[in-house]
Amino acid sequence: MCVIIDANRFAEAVAQPPASAYRPLIDWLLLPRSDGVAVFGGSKYAEELRRAPSAQRFFVKLVQAGRAKPIAGVDAEADAVRARCVSDDEHIVALARLSGARVVCTEDGDLMSDVRDPRLLARPRGRVYRNAGHRALLHHDAGCQRREARGRHRKRA
Ligand SMILES: [Zn+2]
Repeated sequence: MCVIIDANRFAEAVAQPPASAYRPLIDWLLLPRSDGVAVFGGSKYAEELRRAPSAQRFFVKLVQAGRAKPIAGVDAEADAVRARCVSDDEHIVALARLSGARVVCTEDGDLMSDVRDPRLLARPRGRVYRNAGHRALLHHDAGCQRREARGRHRKRA
């Protein structure tokens, strides 16, 4: 599934080099022969990126490479799900619901609860990426933006 990186992980994930826990995730997004895609969107995520210049530069690079996709309508969806979220990261839940992304990179316990709540994210269930042992989560599936956009699973040459 496409990934969503919680702002609380920007410092470790986007560092040069990335923390070892995030190396497989960053490789999946950056290496030419991999096919990772991150999704982002909404005014809160934009504000979080503005406060983290290195993460903002990272996303600019990903967008230019076709490896990050902006998602529309996140603010309205966040408003719609806020009351059902334990965390204050309803924008992340909204991003997942709208995009089909189901892997969220976070260390926030409340957001983990929301990501794993089938009343918020289902078909498939949301998953949390926390360390290199979770590299098996880094793939696309039928609900993905990339899958929809390309019509089939495809590796970059
Ligand atoms: Zn995907």
